[in-house]
Amino acid sequence: MTQARPGGMDGRQSVIDLHCHSRASDGHLAPAEVVARAAGQGVRVLALTDHDTLAGVAEAAAEADRCGISLIPAVECSCTWQGRELHIVGLAVDPNAPALQAQLRNARDARWRRMQRIAQKLAAKRIPGVFEEVVAAVGDGMPTRAHVARVLYASGHVHSLQQAFDRYIGRGKPAWCRADWPTMEDCVAAIREAGGQAVLAHPLAYGMTGAWLRRTLMAFGDAGGEAVEVVCGSSDRQAVLTATGQALRAGLKGSVGSDFHNPENPWIELGRLRPLPPAVIPVWHDWSLQID
Ligand code: MN
Ligand code: MN
Ligand code: MN
Repeated sequence: MTQARPGGMDGRQSVIDLHCHSRASDGHLAPAEVVARAAGQGVRVLALTDHDTLAGVAEAAAEADRCGISLIPAVECSCTWQGRELHIVGLAVDPNAPALQAQLRNARDARWRRMQRIAQKLAAKRIPGVFEEVVAAVGDGMPTRAHVARVLYASGHVHSLQQAFDRYIGRGKPAWCRADWPTMEDCVAAIREAGGQAVLAHPLAYGMTGAWLRRTLMAFGDAGGEAVEVVCGSSDRQAVLTATGQALRAGLKGSVGSDFHNPENPWIELGRLRPLPPAVIPVWHDWSLQID
């Protein structure tokens, strides 16, 4: 067992990063590029966690072999609990497990259906053709609202990607559409059937009160969830403390992940993570890792 440990100039360099994205979903880099960048940042154990797809894992694993780092097959699943959307990272899953594959197919269908509804709402706002643009941009990847934002930006309808969310596709905005995600329970079950560990991603990003988050984590643990992402790329010291308290109270292990998407964002970098507090059992506690 090895702890992610401080090593960078400001103590925010982890050899373990268990959350990031490639072009297989809404990241900006190819899977191999993500891995090479992670290796360059000193990461030794990386989980590629694209949204609802394992399509990037094979390419990432091949590059990880080349770079001499460990690639953990993983996925970030969207799901709902009590009417709220949650993101659950499935770590160390078998990419060929039938239950998980079926789950991801359902999620992919749900994403395309949502994309059609978003495009219809945008067409009603005199912005036609978005669906076709997204299809062309996504290819074999997973359609996300980030793709819509890029289409709106490229066509000059917004001045920034953020403005696309603020004006059109963010929650409660004119082209907002809820997707019919699977339930949290089904999502955790599919991850477990694939031999993986379920981690509740970025617990402080849902806008929940502390009491709601406690209830969510208890239900997540009851469903077979194993860990909380205690350290995120965006976490300040207080956020780590808050998430640590929540993890300990719910009896869950802790994970660490940057949620890297885009090399142009100077605030989020692969492996740039505060250390996991020693009070928390790391989700990788029982993995056999070769890290000195
Ligand atoms: Mn994303
Ligand atoms: Mn997420
Ligand atoms: Mn993510």
